[in-house]
Order: sequence, then structure tokens, then C-alpha cells
Amino acid sequence: MNLAAMLARASRLHGNRPALVRGAAVTHDYRQLSQDVAALAGSLRNSLNLAPGDRVAIAMANCAELAIVKWACWHAGLCAVPINAKLHRREFEYILADSGTRVCFTDAKLENTVGGLDDTIPSLDRVISVSSREWSALLAADPMPLTDVAPDDNAWLFYTSGTTGQPKGATLTHRNLVAQTMNFFADVDQVTPENGIIHSAPMTHGSGCYGLPYVAKGGCQIIPESGGFDPAEMLELIGKNGGGVSFFFAPTMIVRLLAHPALGDADTSNLRTIIYGGGPMYVADLQRGIEMLGQKFVQIYGQGEAPMTITGLTRAMHVETSHPRYLERLGSVGAARTDVEVKVFDQDDNELPTGEIGEVVLRGDVVMKGYWNNPDATAKAMSSGWLHTGDMGAFDEDGFLTLKDRSKDMIISGGTNIYPREIEEVLLRHTAVEEVSVIGKPHADWGEEVIAFVVAKPGQDVDAPELDQICLDNIARFKRPKQYRFVDSLPKNNYGKILKTELRTQIEKEDAQ
Ligand code: AMP
Repeated sequence: MNLAAMLARASRLHGNRPALVRGAAVTHDYRQLSQDVAALAGSLRNSLNLAPGDRVAIAMANCAELAIVKWACWHAGLCAVPINAKLHRREFEYILADSGTRVCFTDAKLENTVGGLDDTIPSLDRVISVSSREWSALLAADPMPLTDVAPDDNAWLFYTSGTTGQPKGATLTHRNLVAQTMNFFADVDQVTPENGIIHSAPMTHGSGCYGLPYVAKGGCQIIPESGGFDPAEMLELIGKNGGGVSFFFAPTMIVRLLAHPALGDADTSNLRTIIYGGGPMYVADLQRGIEMLGQKFVQIYGQGEAPMTITGLTRAMHVETSHPRYLERLGSVGAARTDVEVKVFDQDDNELPTGEIGEVVLRGDVVMKGYWNNPDATAKAMSSGWLHTGDMGAFDEDGFLTLKDRSKDMIISGGTNIYPREIEEVLLRHTAVEEVSVIGKPHADWGEEVIAFVVAKPGQDVDAPELDQICLDNIARFKRPKQYRFVDSLPKNNYGKILKTELRTQIEKEDAQ
């Protein structure tokens, strides 16, 4: 089926219900959204002469137009290429050229960054701003009927966040995105037309994926005035949009929300679900969150190559305190999602037994078709018919998966594998520690030695002997950091993921001096 059939259905069933909201003001009900989408689809095909399968990029901060372009692409049988608004011009250039995008839509803020790239990128015919007159004209065209697509036709080139190397375009099909949507209902949450999702994380990535189940059920997508994440604004929005709101957050955003002074007085009774994922959530932070906000957390583990759908920790699992392995479960990424098979493989693609650490692999209808224009990377990622995630992990006997860092982040010291996450979890138990990141530094005798970068909470002090003690009390001696670096902040990418590569480069540079 064409994904966009979900919007057509919502418009028939819930035409008068809010579809897109900016702050507290409704910008589009379902009837208007579906009309704009069908009209823009007609313009893309007829005025801009795009053919089914052509790529249309979306370089915008969160806004209603971003959703309109995305759904119009699907309606017209085109492939959307959403690009994070915070990227550098060079990164936009790379993605636009790599994807062979023909038309790029952008907003007023990014006009200067993206404008003119149609002169330098041969495949790119046009850059069109959604604040231009042309945009209004495109929406005034005759609506076109929904395009027939095959399930394996391309719908979304999802460029990976690139914590290492150049981003690759995971090619997601209509089948992948319908599967992602149905899996949301199976394991994450239910949605009614009264519910809303607040997009304070980029709609070009995970939060945008979760726009789909909301459209499928006639729920509304709420875009903060700021277009991004501001904890005080979030707290205000929760109260303003009745009917129960949810959001998808990266763990670092939850930590910022929990630390915000406005949370104390905020009325969060209208907050239904906090879905988190995209990076490790530390147990101490999660416990604090549950204590402060209650039974509202759902974790998902996914990646661009299998959008939002590998494993998950349900709402109930977050509060099953009587379970003998409750804390281990909180530190895990939960169990395989309903519609995927997940296994742990050794280097030769043999399945490993319970408890043994190897690479997490999966198969199912959410798994991408491959990397755009990159058969070598595709063959490597999909060997033996399983998607290789690059994440290391182990299952327990109940089928709960615990991630042990990406394979490249693992530290090998004295021939023993050390997983930074385990040390980070322990250091975060110190009440004055705000954030921490552990990496390996090349060492002549040991291969690598453990170094911890530590950010203290504002106005609080922490020193190396105290941190050493916490390690000695909780983990094997050889795992404890040989060095602590106290820093004001940690380098992060645009999704709030800590860039261990930058920390490693910093150390390498120091060594070279
Ligand atoms: P991306 O494709 O940019 O969304 O990045 C996906 C990667 O983020 C995964 O391969 C994991 O390394 C990491 N990740 C995603 N979800 C989680 C989670 N719940 N816990 C820990 N790491 C996660």
C-alpha cells in the first residue's frame, strides 16, 4: 500500500480534527492537510516534472510545511530525503549530491545555507523556500489522486546521523514505514484522535517517524514555536494541548528536562508517554525520571536502517519493581519487538547462546532495502540476510537485550574487553556527576587504557578519588579509569548523541604533541 493512504483515511474519518498545531494554534485540520498534500503532489509531478522514485529533499527545522512536503512526496510516489536543519552547508551538499535529489524544499532560516547549491550539484534542479510565493502557488494546484506504489518502492532516504564517517542513506520503503507504524501500536503506545505528539526532536528523524502512527489514527502533531527543544516551552505545551500528549526524546533531552527548575511546579497530568531512545539511557537518570514523572516511560531501540523498531521496554516493564532483575531490565533495551526477529551473532554470523556478547542482528519488514547507491556497504550490513546493527549486545534468559556499546567503542585492555557503558553507569551514581563518557586511549603495554570525561552538576564538585572509590565498590579493578578529565561539556551531534570519536581525536592530538 501507499503510506499516504493513511492520511487520506484520516481525512475521511477525522476531517475536522486538528492535524498540525504550532504552539497552541491549529494550522491544519485533517481536511486541509490532505488537500494541501494532494495539491503539492500534483505540482511536484506536473509543474516540477518529477517522476515516480525521484528524490525530494526537505531541509527545514520542524514546521507544518515539513510534514506537508513529506506526505506529498509519498502521495505522488516520490522519495523524501529529510535532512537535519542543524547540519553544515558541506553536509547538506554531500547528502543532496549523494541522494541525487532533484528538488530541495527549505525554510527562511536555511535559504542562505542551502540556496545556490542548485548551481553546484548537477542533479539538483531547484531549491524552493516554503516562505516564497512559489510555495503558495504550488499549493494552489489541482489535487492529484493517490499514486499506486509497490510495497518495495522507496519512500524515505534516512541519512544516518554519522557519529563516524560520512552519513549513508538507509533506503526505507513504503512497506518498512507501514511496518514501523503497526509496530508502534503493537508495542509502544495506542493513539486516539484526541492525542498529540510534540515534535521537539527533529521531524527529519525519529520524531518524524512517530508522526506516522499519529496520522494513521487522526491524532495531532504539535510543533513548538521554537521548532526545537526548550524544556520550559515543552512543559508549557503539555498543559496547553488537552487530550494527552506524548513525545519522543533522546536520553540527553530527558536529562535536561529533569534538571529544569520549571519541572517542579509544572502540571504534567496531561503528559501521557515519554518515548526515549537513540542512545543509552543510564539507569540512575531513568529511575529519577520515573520517580518524578511516574509510569510514563517507554524505551525503543532502533536505527535508521530499521526505523524505531528493534527492541523495546514497555511502560509496564519500567515499573515492575518486584521483578528480581528489575534494575538489569532498566539498563537493557528490552525485548525484541513483536514483528522482528533479533539475534546476537559472532564474527562468522553464527548465533551466540544466551549471555554471550556479539553483534545484534535482525530481520523483518522494518529492515531497509539497502544503502542508497552503496552496494558494498549494503552487502556488508545485510550478510546472511540479517541486518547487522554494528551494536554489541547480549540476551538474558528472558530475552532482554543489553547493549554493550557499538563495537568500535569497546575498549580492549590487556586483552580483555571492557564496555564503556558499564563504567559510565557506575560513575553516574555519584550525585555530583551530570554526564560522563568513557573511551579507550592507546597504551603501549595494555593496548588501550580507560579514560573518563566527566561533567559535574552546576555548582557541585567531584574529584578523582571519589570516582575511583565508586568504581572500586562496584566493578572489577581493571575496569576503573586510569585518568579522569573534568570538562564543562561533552561534544554532541545534532541529535544529542555524544561524539566519542571527537574525544578520541582530542586525546590522539594531545599525544602527538
Ligand atoms: P541512528 O541510526 O542515527 O538513529 O542511530 C542508531 C544507533 O543509536 C543504534 O545503532 C544504537 O547504537 C543507538 N541507539 C538507538 N536506540 C538506543 C537505545 N535505546 N539504547 C542505546 N543505544 C541506542
